[in-house]
Amino acid sequence: MTEPGVTPAPAADRNAVLAQNLAAVQARIASAVDAAGRAETPPMLIVVSKFHPAADVQALARLGITNFGENRDQEAAAKAAEVGDLGLRWHFVGQLQTNKAKSVARYAASVHSVDRSALAAALGRAVDHEHDATGRGPLEIFIQVTLDDDASTSRGGADPADVPALADAIAERGLLRLAGVMAVAPLGANPDRAFEKLAGISARLRSDHPSAAAISAGMSQDLEAAIRHGATHLRIGSDILGSRPAVG
Ligand SMILES: *Cc1c(COP(=O)(O)O)cnc(C)c1O
Repeated sequence: MTEPGVTPAPAADRNAVLAQNLAAVQARIASAVDAAGRAETPPMLIVVSKFHPAADVQALARLGITNFGENRDQEAAAKAAEVGDLGLRWHFVGQLQTNKAKSVARYAASVHSVDRSALAAALGRAVDHEHDATGRGPLEIFIQVTLDDDASTSRGGADPADVPALADAIAERGLLRLAGVMAVAPLGANPDRAFEKLAGISARLRSDHPSAAAISAGMSQDLEAAIRHGATHLRIGSDILGSRPAVG
């Protein structure tokens, strides 16, 4: 990380680092896909660019990445606008207040962190409005579930028992497309056990909503476990972009 007074690395060096990191992550994904016998159904890579500048997004776009994730509306809105000519798809992956739904609906293709019906309703209204104003199509929605038995240490998400009602509330909104489930493995937990549980929650959701088959799971530390348990969308930040400040 750059310290005050230290000249940042030249852009060419930064681009080389990003290319190398991306290739290493893609190699890990390829071998996990191979080991899981999933060559026909590889997961989508979403690069989580939070805390990193639009120049990094541009560099990764040149390397073929088209899906990017962000977890704060203000930062995401500014970055999406800065690279608005590149045809990228933005995935909102962070906790979201209902009063930010309107803003998110302007740039996001997908929201991975819907954990309550009030948020689904706010996004539904925002997308209706955006559709009337600009003709933009449906917003893809993932229900975030907690995999932590202890609510006090949970990293966000709905109780699995609340998923059916939440799914129905999302599915009845014309311009929300229920994609599936999302989760973050609990800190210190075995990611295989966590993602096995998520696969079970996904299977129950699909019995009511067969097309909601997506599973958004897997970060830098646990992408192999996520791929073993059926992840369709990986959200990878630090192993591609480097470390970020702990605050935020
Ligand atoms: C930051 C973040 C990621 C990426 O995590 P890394 O460990 O940096 O790969 C994935 N999902 C969510 C919800 C995040 O907030």
